[in-house]
Amino acid sequence: MKKHEPPKGYLIDIEGVLVRDKRYQPIAGAVDWFTALRDSGRPFCLVSNNTTHRPDDLIGDLVAAGFPVTVDQLVGTLDLSRRWLQERGKKRLLWLGTADLAEYWRQAGFELVTNGPCEAVVLGVNQGLTVAELDQALPALLDQGADLVCLHRNAFYLDGQGVRRLGPGAWAGALAAVGGTGRVITVGKPSQKIYNEALKRIGVAAGEALFISDDPVNDLVTARQLGMTTAFVLSGKHSDHAVLGSLPEEDWPHIVCNSLGDLERPVPLA
Ligand SMILES: [Mg+2]
Repeated sequence: MKKHEPPKGYLIDIEGVLVRDKRYQPIAGAVDWFTALRDSGRPFCLVSNNTTHRPDDLIGDLVAAGFPVTVDQLVGTLDLSRRWLQERGKKRLLWLGTADLAEYWRQAGFELVTNGPCEAVVLGVNQGLTVAELDQALPALLDQGADLVCLHRNAFYLDGQGVRRLGPGAWAGALAAVGGTGRVITVGKPSQKIYNEALKRIGVAAGEALFISDDPVNDLVTARQLGMTTAFVLSGKHSDHAVLGSLPEEDWPHIVCNSLGDLERPVPLA
C-alpha cells in the first residue's frame, strides 16, 4: 500500500476491535465504521481465532450486536483446523477445547476420545481445562505420535466478565515441552496460514491490505511481516501501547488508535 493510498481490502480481528470481549457488546463507534466499510464496496473479512463459537453462532452474535456481516466473510481458525485435520485423514481427536464445541467436531465426522488412541490432540479456549485433562494428552503425544494442533497460540484472552484467562498458547507451550514425535501445528494467528487464507478470500495482495487488531504481538507482527499495513486499536487487550516495548521496532504497527471508530473511514470504491 503506497503512502496516502487507501487500503484496497481490510482484514479485521473481532474481539477487542468490533466487540470488547466474550460478552459481544459492540465497542463505541465500531458499528458505524464497519457499516461504512460494508457500504464502501471494498473487500473485507473477519480473521478470527475464536474457538468458543460455531461460525454461524459467531456471525449471529455479531449481527445481533449490529454488524452487517455474513458467514462467508469469516475466516476462522475452527474451520481451517477442521479442514487441516480432514485433509490429513485424522479421525480420532482428543479435543481439549470447550465442551460446547464437541458436537461441532462430531458433526464434521470426527470421533472424540478421552482415553485411548487418537491421531491429534486439539487445543482451543477452555476456561474449565484441568491438569488431569492435559494429562490425557500424554499417551497420545508420547506413545502414539499424535499431532498437537493448536487452534491458536494466544497466551491469554478476555472472558465473559472481561477477566484475563490463560489461553491455548499457554497449554500449547506446556504440551509442546513434553516432546513426542508428532507435529506441532498452529492454525490461527500468528501462523501465516490464516492470513494467506484471508487474503485469498478477499482477493487482495498483502501489500494492499490493512490488518486491524487489538493484539500487536499475536496478530499484527505476522501481518506486517507478510507486507500488510497494520493498525493497533487500544479497545481490547491493551489500553495503552506499553506492550510495544516487548517488540523490535520493525514489528511495531504502522497505526495506533483508540478504537476502530478513530480509524480513517474506508473510501467508497469509485
Ligand atoms: Mg482480538
